[in-house]
Amino acid sequence: MPPPPTVILFDLDGTLVKFDVDAPILDRVLAQVVGLPDQGRLYDGVGRTERWIATEAARSVGMPLEGAFERYAAAYTPLLREALAHVAPTPLPGVTAALEALRARDDVVIGMATGGMRANAVLKMEHARIASFFDPLRGAFGDEHHDRVEVFRHAALDCGWSGGQGLVFVGDTERDILSALEVGGRPVGVATGGFTEAQLREAGAAAVLPDFTDLPRTLSALIEA
Ligand SMILES: [Mg+2]
Repeated sequence: MPPPPTVILFDLDGTLVKFDVDAPILDRVLAQVVGLPDQGRLYDGVGRTERWIATEAARSVGMPLEGAFERYAAAYTPLLREALAHVAPTPLPGVTAALEALRARDDVVIGMATGGMRANAVLKMEHARIASFFDPLRGAFGDEHHDRVEVFRHAALDCGWSGGQGLVFVGDTERDILSALEVGGRPVGVATGGFTEAQLREAGAAAVLPDFTDLPRTLSALIEA
């Protein structure tokens, strides 16, 4: 029997795509849902789940937590759909070639482990023309779990991972790296989000890439390192 495939889980925002639409949407959603203006920058791009953001924002103004996420989600997705119509339908450089190379291998299974909501992740993946690489869509999302670590753990299980099998997590934030370590995965950092290569290495990344444009180097970091 061949060894079980290595499970490679990808973060989405800042890792595979960068549309820069979420902070202004968050501003509007949080103003609408909890009455707090200009809060987007506090919560965007730091590796928090959307369920966590909605709950913490409600808590910060003393609103009931019950239903906060549902109101947040209902407000968010239509604004995202509208915003994506105005940004280039491309992933980050090198992403498509890297995903194509991974799809060609039979020793790798890929999945999604994003703090974003499933519906929002699907919209972004479709907009960037990378959804077909994740079909069937395995992984976990930030509307199902409150904590980044739980997203990662459930994403691994959804990809059929069991202990002893290779597990790699690719992300752009310190929180991604720390979560991967906590679950027992090998963290790979990519400095296309808000964190530098040095910061990701410092957080404990086993390998760090400036971006995915060097395909051999990318594959080596994801699989062979
Ligand atoms: Mg990210």
